[in-house]
Amino acid sequence: MTSSILPTYSRAPMRFVKGEGAWLIAEDGRRYLDLGAGIAVNVLGHAHPALVGALTHQAGELWHTSNLYHIPGQETLADRLVEETFADTVFFTNSGTEACELAVKMARKYWHEKGEERNEVVGFTGSFHGRSSAGIAAAGAEKLTKGFGPLLPGFIQIDFADHEAIQTAVTDKTAAVIIEPVQGEGGIVPVPDQCLKGLRDLCDETGALLIFDEVQCGVGRTGKLFAHEWAGIAPDIMMVAKGIGGGFPLGAVLATAEASAGMTAGSHGSTYGGNPLAMAVGKKVMEIVADEAFLADVRRKAGRLRQRLEGVVAGHPEVFESVRGSGLMLGLKCKAPNADVIAAGYAAEVLGVPAADNVVRILPPLNITDEEIDEAAVRLDRAAVAVEAAKAPA
Ligand SMILES: *Cc1c(COP(=O)(O)O)cnc(C)c1O
Repeated sequence: MTSSILPTYSRAPMRFVKGEGAWLIAEDGRRYLDLGAGIAVNVLGHAHPALVGALTHQAGELWHTSNLYHIPGQETLADRLVEETFADTVFFTNSGTEACELAVKMARKYWHEKGEERNEVVGFTGSFHGRSSAGIAAAGAEKLTKGFGPLLPGFIQIDFADHEAIQTAVTDKTAAVIIEPVQGEGGIVPVPDQCLKGLRDLCDETGALLIFDEVQCGVGRTGKLFAHEWAGIAPDIMMVAKGIGGGFPLGAVLATAEASAGMTAGSHGSTYGGNPLAMAVGKKVMEIVADEAFLADVRRKAGRLRQRLEGVVAGHPEVFESVRGSGLMLGLKCKAPNADVIAAGYAAEVLGVPAADNVVRILPPLNITDEEIDEAAVRLDRAAVAVEAAKAPA
């Protein structure tokens, strides 16, 4: 029988009905410590009073007008994003995928306006940029693209460790290079600062535009507002989503004046993008997260979480191999199947998120408390014990 919900997800058996900070409460009353945060979305946890206040206040004022008119909240949030980043201009979307669409269109339009035949986009193996035709073509992995051909042409992928291949691929024919500074779906793989700097140099030499996909690693996740700040360089175009809305659907493309020069009136649009509800929430998220004291606390907590996770890994060498990642974007590289570790976590009432390369992602709300971090380690330890017990010969 066909289910009334298109069965594109194999869902875990929990049914959550309420959230409080780093906790999710299921229909049956069980309380789970949420180390997934809706896949790096709920940066301030669930039902944060300031976000609830911003959303409910705006809900009583105005929901939607379309982009036929000026939207004051867009101007406020865009000004803030421009002030905090490399960017000169912002377009608001409803998701990361939509941000990818615009990033690619913007790069191609840039070269079109210059009268140059440059439309190839260089991406990287293991990457993820969303599920649209451009997103799956940019990432290239067979599990995303199989059966959906013909794919959008003009994309290639390279291993980011293969410097020679990158040198060969990125030429004065390349429109843009797209990369996640920390790969998320790919298994929490930080791209070394030196590589990001090298890409910046190569793009400067060839003129190719550099696109950073910070949909997962941005908005405070690594302890800086945006992950690329650690490398001391900036992109020409940046995709943002997930954390920026704290759980409300919101994405954005940030760009320099130069890179965005082709995007004139009528060249792109969105019915819902930048609607007043999303703007009210995004503005409040930025007020809280784009604050040096808040980010310093994320870095401090990240140290604590990493230390606790190292302890869990050391205690269960049959289950785990290592901890990797940056800030509160961490991955447990597993020896046991990551699905087993995640399922054991459900039994121990702690939520992780699977990723490629047999990794369990640990992406807690950025305002998780020290006590909750310690509790997370206790529960993950319990899960690891259960995985060991299941593996042990009877
Ligand atoms: C989640 C994600 C996307 C897609 O975002 P959606 O909001 O799901 O469309 C794109 N890029 C990266 C790096 C992501 O993690």
